[in-house]
Amino acid sequence: MKNLHRTIHRWYQSYGRRTLPWRNTDEPYYIYLSEVMLQQTQVKTVLERYYFPFIERFPTLKALGEAELGEVLKAWEGLGYYTRAKNLHKSATLVSELPTDIDALIQLPGIGKNTAHAIAAFAFRQPVPIMEANVKRILCRLYRLENPTQKELWEYAYGLLDQDNAFDYNQAMMDIGALVCLPKNPACDRCPLERICEGKDDPLRYPAKQKRSVRLREEHIVIYRYHDRIFLHQRSGKFLHGLWGFESTKVPPCTAAYLGEVSHTYTHFKLTCKVYLYDEETPKQKHYFTLDEISELAISKVDEKILVLLKRSKRPCWVSF
Ligand code: SF4
Repeated sequence: MKNLHRTIHRWYQSYGRRTLPWRNTDEPYYIYLSEVMLQQTQVKTVLERYYFPFIERFPTLKALGEAELGEVLKAWEGLGYYTRAKNLHKSATLVSELPTDIDALIQLPGIGKNTAHAIAAFAFRQPVPIMEANVKRILCRLYRLENPTQKELWEYAYGLLDQDNAFDYNQAMMDIGALVCLPKNPACDRCPLERICEGKDDPLRYPAKQKRSVRLREEHIVIYRYHDRIFLHQRSGKFLHGLWGFESTKVPPCTAAYLGEVSHTYTHFKLTCKVYLYDEETPKQKHYFTLDEISELAISKVDEKILVLLKRSKRPCWVSF
């Protein structure tokens, strides 16, 4: 095992993404933030557009906890999966410093076993393995696991861990998954794990592909406009909670103009919205905003698409008629 760990370490020194900013800080909050942002978003997007502006705006966990949720959601806008931002904010209201213990980390909102291990390994340099999608795929291929349980995966992960240099080892495993052991085209001839890999003759077999059926959901969205102002409401349900958005209705008003259709795919379903514009003679809703004001609000991706559709329509909202 020592030889293998040396090979992994050498590979990481030569090919690893060692300059990523969250790999070069001792600040647990920054590492926690990067872990949360990277859960559903690519490194490039997080790095280029979100990580630094977020830290600039909320430089400490304490500052994040003292901020309004709306402000946090605005800084998160475009990253999607807003529950991550809400949980991050909630955690920041509960603690001003992260606990170092994995069991205590798991008590915080939005931190499951995987994230707790990643924070422990990267922020507190503890000799524990991590378990993200890339690492899971590698383990399945190394040990020819088609449908492993979580328990099995963790056992293999602990068994393979380099306890003497867990930080570099874990970063290397993520990078091997991201750069070499790719889902469709694993480059086994360049892989530092090739010597021990049991699945290298048929790597695409591991893990077995999960069949996912995408549910379809359709909604009618009405944009209520009064002169140059548009009605938005703040969502209070579980879905997109806290974000501002357009009103969904069962039956649009009969004089509403049809603008077109927008679609957005979420993790568990695909949403298609048929969008209508309704000009009001007297304001009947509560909150109306100009386009400039809307640009200051946190709105979801699908509402952004609706706004683009409105701007491109023949009835742009800056023209009163
Ligand atoms: S040898 Fe191939 S299948 Fe095995 S871990 Fe490396 S890249 Fe993946």
